[in-house]
Amino acid sequence: MSSESLANLLKEERRFEPPAELAAHANVTAEAYERARDDRLGFWAEQARRLTWATEPTETLDWSNPPFAKWFKDGKLNVAYNCVDRHVEAGHGDRVAIHFEGEPGDTRTLTYADLQREVCQAANALTELGVRAGDRVAIYLPMIPEAVVAMLACARVGAPHSVVFGGFSADALATRVQDADARVVITADGGHRKGAPSALKPAVDEALTRPGTENVRTVLVVRRTEQEVEWTEGRDLWWHDVVGRQSPEHTPQAFEAEHPLFILYTSGTTGKPKGILHTSGGYLTQIAYTHHAVFDLKPETDVFWCTADIGWVTGHSYIVYGPLANGATQVMYEGTPDTPHKGRWWEIAEKYGVTLFYTAPTAIRASMKWGDDIPAKFDLSSLRLLGSVGEPINPEAWIWYREHIGAGRTPIVDTWWQTETGGVMISPLPGVTATKPGSAQVPLPGIAATVVDDEANEVPDGSGGYLVLTEPWPSMLRTIWGDDQRYLDTYWSRFPNRYFAGDGAKKDDDGDVWLLGRVDDVMLVSGHNISTTEVESALVSHPSVAEAAVVGATDPQTTQAICAFVILRGTAAESEGLTEELRAHVAKQLGPIAKPRRILPVAELPKTRSGKIMRRLLRDIAENRELGDVSTLTDSSVMELIQAKLPGAASED
Ligand code: ATP
Ligand code: MG
Repeated sequence: MSSESLANLLKEERRFEPPAELAAHANVTAEAYERARDDRLGFWAEQARRLTWATEPTETLDWSNPPFAKWFKDGKLNVAYNCVDRHVEAGHGDRVAIHFEGEPGDTRTLTYADLQREVCQAANALTELGVRAGDRVAIYLPMIPEAVVAMLACARVGAPHSVVFGGFSADALATRVQDADARVVITADGGHRKGAPSALKPAVDEALTRPGTENVRTVLVVRRTEQEVEWTEGRDLWWHDVVGRQSPEHTPQAFEAEHPLFILYTSGTTGKPKGILHTSGGYLTQIAYTHHAVFDLKPETDVFWCTADIGWVTGHSYIVYGPLANGATQVMYEGTPDTPHKGRWWEIAEKYGVTLFYTAPTAIRASMKWGDDIPAKFDLSSLRLLGSVGEPINPEAWIWYREHIGAGRTPIVDTWWQTETGGVMISPLPGVTATKPGSAQVPLPGIAATVVDDEANEVPDGSGGYLVLTEPWPSMLRTIWGDDQRYLDTYWSRFPNRYFAGDGAKKDDDGDVWLLGRVDDVMLVSGHNISTTEVESALVSHPSVAEAAVVGATDPQTTQAICAFVILRGTAAESEGLTEELRAHVAKQLGPIAKPRRILPVAELPKTRSGKIMRRLLRDIAENRELGDVSTLTDSSVMELIQAKLPGAASED
């Protein structure tokens, strides 16, 4: 599809220049691109100086055994010291680190001095429990400050954490505990979600009955909801007992830059989740830099809020490690955006004067569906920058976000990255880039990315292909935990010497990158490659459509036929006339080849717990197959509803 069709989608070519005020004081200017281009490793060595090292590194990158990278390998540091203590030592102990808002409305304020005390106590507790550097700790907690404290305490004693999203089942927890061979599990009685306490401890009790979890000696339980819990004597301990009685002082030990920091599983959008290993010095360097550059963070005055769960990489990098390494003040919210009302997020943003806000397209589309009047009730004038991550953001949602949350004046940074990349890779810089709705645009300074064809040749501007990263980067994954071969096969075998991201992309006439969805999702229709993202964007640009997911189903005539699943907006009624109109709308926007064969209105789409649409399950349905891995699906009843609706409900050519 030509880039004209994208412009068409927007009805006109729209560019948004950085606000003059922001550009004038931006943390990073255009000169950074040049500096990094001239000396990429020198650039990263410079960024590493954002951190406080116990031993300064002298070597930036050891790439002698690709693709197993070693960044800053002779440097030593303590990650938790960098995120907490050094700010207190610099005189910022009274600065708020976390404004916590519980779902029921309870609040807590943690300054950097408070955080230091709690992290030290928790580190002392882990040590008392026999946790040594290198031991793995599983963390299965709601979005409460103890989650941050637990992660930092692990980092402080050199015990890699494996955070498991609190909404996952006992099964998902058990496999992650087994895979990492965890020694301790940190959990809570429960957390507050959707207006009610939701238990966590029973899932831990169940998970730990499974074979392969025997090495868990201790379960440390935070009291949050005061639900009744079963208790295994000798194994279970209350956090407030054990952590509460520890000394608030703890001397951090320095670890090698390549010391493992955490294992984290991918979201499972394309298949069974992969356990990604991240290490310390390179990771923290890139996370601190990208948080500073992409969000233009001014730690003295900004209030940052990333709405992700700490169970996802976005929560690791842009709630815990990036903001705290940079001494930021941030908001942390426990619950769902619609509890007790659909304006909860905007109410919180107003209350704390949030200036930088980072969320996912799925949340933006949900807000669009709920109506413009909801954010309009709140004073969002403190916001000066908005971010998006997790999926391609369709231009309609981008524009809505800017207009209704950003008052038509804030820049939007659409950040492309993955669990594997650790930090943001492709994104506008808010003080530099004239933004284009729907495009992640340019690799950050120090990052080398391009788009290639099947033969690994770089495609010219105006064409599409596969997104690849052509140089190692500091926060890259080091391997898949315990499976180097899968690391090689998944990322490094498709194209020699290039990291294969698994995403389709195109470069427009200006060379800007547009993400087109998963390579597995790209459709082949009568000899044409058509991206799911483009057809979805076209559907969502119709006033009756709130959300869309598109898949290609095997078809004897055209190789694949486009099937679209759409959620209609509140006021739109399902009718044959409407599905015909939608098909015509797509044909008009993108050309007749992209016209969906079938359009099926549905009440919900299958999404991962991180809010991404799982097209592979829709494809399974469209092709009448048994469903693949559903362990990371939010709600499996969604699939039954869709399946029940399928026969006869679709409109056929
Ligand atoms: P799995 O790897 O298990 O299938 P996943 O890829 O969804 O799951 P994540 O690492 O959480 O797991 O997500 C990274 C992916 O999310 C990227 O590869 C890309 O497909 C998508 N993504 C993230 N941010 C953006 C963005 N700004 N624009 C387009 N796509 C994005
Ligand atoms: Mg992935």
